[in-house]
Amino acid sequence: MESSSSGSVSDEVGLYLHVPFCRSRCTYCDFVSFTDFSWVEEYFRALWKEIELWSRFLPKVRVGTIYIGGGSPSDVPFELLEKTLERIRRMFLIADDFEFTIEVNPNCEFVERLESLSVNRVSIGLQAADDEVLKRVKRRHSVDDFFRTYEIAKSFAKVNVDFIVGLPTESDRTIENDVRIVEMLKPDHVSIYLLETHEIELKTSVDQVVEDHYGRFVEAVKAMGYHRYEISNFALNGSFCRHNLKYWRNQDYVGLGVAAGGHLGRIRYVNSSRLDEYITKLKNEDFAFDHFSKNDDLQELKETIFMGLRLSEGVSVERLRRLWRTFDPEELFSDLLGEFLEIKGESLRMTERGFDLSARVLADVIDRISLMAVGR
Ligand code: SF4
Repeated sequence: MESSSSGSVSDEVGLYLHVPFCRSRCTYCDFVSFTDFSWVEEYFRALWKEIELWSRFLPKVRVGTIYIGGGSPSDVPFELLEKTLERIRRMFLIADDFEFTIEVNPNCEFVERLESLSVNRVSIGLQAADDEVLKRVKRRHSVDDFFRTYEIAKSFAKVNVDFIVGLPTESDRTIENDVRIVEMLKPDHVSIYLLETHEIELKTSVDQVVEDHYGRFVEAVKAMGYHRYEISNFALNGSFCRHNLKYWRNQDYVGLGVAAGGHLGRIRYVNSSRLDEYITKLKNEDFAFDHFSKNDDLQELKETIFMGLRLSEGVSVERLRRLWRTFDPEELFSDLLGEFLEIKGESLRMTERGFDLSARVLADVIDRISLMAVGR
């Protein structure tokens, strides 16, 4: 299913809800999250108001996926999550086969209760199977905590495990432990992220070690039978994250909460990342947009290609041509095709080499599209 190129909202959307609270901050974090829990109750009241406002705007669409992320959703009282889901169910039509994901930290105290909310996908942020690294970056859990949470989550849901490569004090042993955990537990889904500071230019000796760690981890996971369906995401037996696929396929989703963003038809918005502003606006029954715009054809083309190339399935050339009639990938990317990009059947996609150098390839692709538009 695609958003139509004419810009109408499709009949099924995803809902993302941001819970911007963490009991403490990890050293590497650049997500929008706060440690002042005196705001929590008021924040959730604002979030419920935002759910209501959107349900009025989208009375007929079905919700196919729900994703609660953060922050740390597992740090807030369970009852607030329960009430949030109650409201979503009351105010939206929910697809029978909906996917409901929640992110939890390995020290989650209520993981067994998530089944009662119909959560069917649990994403656990282990980050590194090495207590020394976890301590160094101020994670508030141990590898043993992870095992306990994993076993409970696995009994009722599909499970994703998040890893980050490139954390301080990470060693060869850390990566060996990461690989061993995946081998032993065979989670349905694994995400392997490279710490952002290492992403742009891999040229110092530290970064070469990190690059080597990343490459070894990815190869090991692939050798276990995982399908690398997105640059950083790996699934066993087709257990893709349907919610995140909506982002990468540039489909329709509603983002709720502080700093959350959405894409509906041609509309693109991002909410305020200030807690006080978000709460005040919603108290007054207003949306709390920080950015709200309607994509023109060029912007929609750029977003569709930028997100779609992250996927191994790539992006439909026909869809791109519906957005830009003269789009010709063979001419535009002639020197990238073969090594970094390929056209397979109907799709333009990255090669494995392109995946490995994705930041640079994607930047180049977007530059060329901008130049194409100037020269039309
Ligand atoms: S748990 Fe996640 S969101 Fe919270 S501080 Fe750590 S990295 Fe940031």
